[in-house]
Amino acid sequence: MNPKRILVVGAGHVGLYAALRLSKRLGAREAEVIVVDPQPHMTYQPFLPEAAAGSISPRHSVVPLRRELRRCTVVVGAVTQIDHAAKTASVQPIVGPTREIRYDQVIIAPGSVSRTLPIPGLHECGIGFKTIGEAIYLRNHVLDRLDVAAATPDSALRRRALTFVFVGGGYAGIEALAEMEDMTRAALRYYPELSPDDMRWVLVEATQRVLPEVDPDMGAYTVQQLLRRSMDIRLGTRLESCVDGLVKLSDGDSFPADTIVWTAGVKPSPMLDATDFPRDERGRITCEPTLQVVAGDQVVAGAWSAGDCAAVPDLTKEPGSYCSPSAQHAVRQANRMADNIVNVLRGLEPVPYQHRHAGSVASLGLYKGVAQVYGIKMKGLPAWFMHRTYHMSRIPSLNRKVRVVADWTLAFFLKREVVALGQLHDPREEFAEASQPVSAR
Ligand SMILES: Cc1cc2nc3c(=O)[nH]c(=O)nc-3n(C[C@H](O)[C@H](O)[C@H](O)COP(=O)(O)OP(=O)(O)OC[C@H]3O[C@@H](n4cnc5c(N)ncnc54)[C@H](O)[C@@H]3O)c2cc1C
Repeated sequence: MNPKRILVVGAGHVGLYAALRLSKRLGAREAEVIVVDPQPHMTYQPFLPEAAAGSISPRHSVVPLRRELRRCTVVVGAVTQIDHAAKTASVQPIVGPTREIRYDQVIIAPGSVSRTLPIPGLHECGIGFKTIGEAIYLRNHVLDRLDVAAATPDSALRRRALTFVFVGGGYAGIEALAEMEDMTRAALRYYPELSPDDMRWVLVEATQRVLPEVDPDMGAYTVQQLLRRSMDIRLGTRLESCVDGLVKLSDGDSFPADTIVWTAGVKPSPMLDATDFPRDERGRITCEPTLQVVAGDQVVAGAWSAGDCAAVPDLTKEPGSYCSPSAQHAVRQANRMADNIVNVLRGLEPVPYQHRHAGSVASLGLYKGVAQVYGIKMKGLPAWFMHRTYHMSRIPSLNRKVRVVADWTLAFFLKREVVALGQLHDPREEFAEASQPVSAR
């Protein structure tokens, strides 16, 4: 029997878990699993805020693919096109020419990218918060701004350096804002030139509430907590422009800022535009509850999707509802999908995915949090503890769990690390300067 080839596009929450399960359940004679991702690691995104805040080493919030997926073939590269009619994908490896990979079954899981708006200046001055690179950059940049502010005698420059703007009040934005403010406040003890009152942390949110994933009273509690920390919370307000860092808001206010973080939602990966899969009006691949791709009422044989790029009906809610883009759904969908692929390969029926969203946990900095899980609401320390234990239990591999707990323990005893490694962003600068021919200096 020729093994079936299963191509996994993207090794994030969906791709990694699906590949792991498939490779455990199917023998080498039944299937060959090929995983393609431009990164050599899976990023556990819920830990990005803690990685940016220095509570976890950034390296420990990612999972190396080759180590985890030993029974799969890992290709570091991007899928640039899929012709499902011909069951062929074009892959651009990190080096060399584009390769064509033929497959029998495909899992499309490239996730999502930041959903931006055509706001003047955003492309030039903004940064997203979805990748480990962005989290590391932001941490170095924010700490670097403290050094700039401490060094300058110019009060306008200092004010600008210490103004941090976050646009979007979902869990990614709120956690990133709260964790980074907490870290910066902790770092200020080493900056006698600066006081917490010099900092300005601004949240810009277009709707009248934050954290739509939890009940309004929990969102209101979160706003109260942030206000108590002297943050500037602008609800019902939009970012209108930020050309050259001059932030202009829809409430008429305007001020310069060196840091503008865009966390206002996600949209499906643009890679899907180069495929022949059916999509809904939001650009997501249309799926059956079994996670099979569906065109109208016709299942597309051999094609599966889940996670942020897929419209998966939520059977626990009223008809017409879809699963939210969350790690919680992505990981469970991945396991269901892998089991369904095994079923189909063995001539059995696939089973519909069904999971009632358990709720959300969010960290608001050290010892602070908000959580609503299966209707139970928690605030402060218990919520923060829940956030940590939940995510520690969810990050893939024992190796990562141990490293994350070790990071937390070290930070507890030795205090968290608040040093900026800004050189990371231009590591050749010093060598290039030193190695320049004398005539060129
Ligand atoms: C800061 C932050 C905090 C979050 N916190 C939570 C939380 O607390 N709880 C929760 O439930 N959810 C949380 N989420 C959401 C959650 O992380 C996502 O819903 C989840 O990652 C979606 O999984 P996915 O597999 O669809 O996409 P991803 O995990 O993003 O994986 C997509 C993968 O596809 C790869 N890829 C992209 N393009 C290509 C291509 N062309 N070819 C091959 N591979 C490609 C990417 O490199 C990536 O590895 C958070 C998200 C962020 C950004």
